[in-house]
Amino acid sequence: MALIVHKYGGTSMGSTERIRNVAKRVAKWARAGHQMVVVPSAMSGETNRLLGLAKELAPAKSTDATNRELDMLASTGEQASSALLAIALQAEGMASVSYAGWQVPIRTNSAYTKARIESIDDQKVRADLAAGKVVIVTGFQGVDELGHITTLGRGGSDTSAVAVAAAMKADECLIYTDVDGVYTTDPRVVPEARRLNTVSFEEMLEMASMGSKVLQIRSVEFAGKYKVPLRVLSSFTPWDIDLTEEAQSGTLITFEEDEQMEQAIVSGIAFNRDEAKISVLGVPDKPGIAYQILGAVADANIEVDMIIQNISRDGKTDFSFTVNRNDHARAMDLLKDKIVPALGAQEATGDTKICKVSIVGIGMRSHVGIASKMFRCLSEEGINIQMISTSEIKTSVVIDEKYMELAVRALHKAFDLDIAKV
Ligand code: ADP
Ligand code: ASP
Ligand code: MG
Repeated sequence: MALIVHKYGGTSMGSTERIRNVAKRVAKWARAGHQMVVVPSAMSGETNRLLGLAKELAPAKSTDATNRELDMLASTGEQASSALLAIALQAEGMASVSYAGWQVPIRTNSAYTKARIESIDDQKVRADLAAGKVVIVTGFQGVDELGHITTLGRGGSDTSAVAVAAAMKADECLIYTDVDGVYTTDPRVVPEARRLNTVSFEEMLEMASMGSKVLQIRSVEFAGKYKVPLRVLSSFTPWDIDLTEEAQSGTLITFEEDEQMEQAIVSGIAFNRDEAKISVLGVPDKPGIAYQILGAVADANIEVDMIIQNISRDGKTDFSFTVNRNDHARAMDLLKDKIVPALGAQEATGDTKICKVSIVGIGMRSHVGIASKMFRCLSEEGINIQMISTSEIKTSVVIDEKYMELAVRALHKAFDLDIAKV
């Protein structure tokens, strides 16, 4: 008997028919003797629908007070799907109870719309499991010190599931979704993408942070920190397939490098359309400018990703960086109103039509020439590189958004990631 956490994404919970299927699958696992904790997302489209309603009423920039209400609102999606799943399980003859984040409780900090989990009390869940119930814990939400409902950022149910698995010391956390595992890149963009049987934790972390939305990055961080055995698999297989077969399907996130079955130099390609580029031109080149620009941006709670400072000419330099697209307008206002005049810089320009494409692989540590192969591939496609950043196991470039799919497809092919043709 094992303690297993299942997480079902929005599409997997997308209709009452699908919820019934989830209930049948979970009941199969429980009847096989496992203690089951299930973390569902809201039904697909529901979070967008709710946040869309809020936007109709308050299209302007968000304030802390509004963000609090956004969490109050968006968290209801998961509350509904959790209750529906508990009802479906009971209809299958399986004792079941659902809890909202605040009932568990799942404690978070107070950063509304992007809160971080601080602790999870496992007592109630354990007592229910001991009483033979399937326990359903709402994904995506928690509660702060003062009792305000918080949410964990888009895609946050993955993190709820892995955090619950870590807190419960579960034997495994299975992330059921609408694809049958982690692929070399998003199979919706590159149909030739291949499913990986295993992917190392480090590669998964880079892929998630570079934009592969199959797992929210914080869920991968949690899995790494607490060594939670984690698997991504399909919720669209028939619910009554053999349990042992199901338990070994999909993609396993591995923690040991030598467990790697597929030692490719580049394991995956990620892309991210959520960023925007900002350049501050004609900045007098003297000590402290990076701090003056980025310090002010950080004080406004705007996260910066890539940074480039050009070599100076005639005592002036250009300074570019990327921010989340949602923060672009706010960052531009700040630069134009305060930073550019304070620095005596020429001007600030912005570009929201960019994307970041990254190649990821632990093989990059021990092989040279991988980045240059990437640059050659892009140049052969006539794609101009605007910014570059590297880490030990990834190289990222910023390019014009309109070339994103072309770049991802060309790189996928250049690094031999396409499905082997027979
Ligand atoms: P869920 O609602 O189950 O959380 P998501 O939509 O958040 O599902 O994540 C699954 C989606 O992630 C897939 O449908 C796929 O389009 C996308 N995706 C992006 N990159 C990858 C990748 N490398 N492997 C698999 N899926 C990916
Ligand atoms: N429902 C939330 C979202 O759409 C959380 C999740 O699905 O993981 O972002
Ligand atoms: Mg998701």
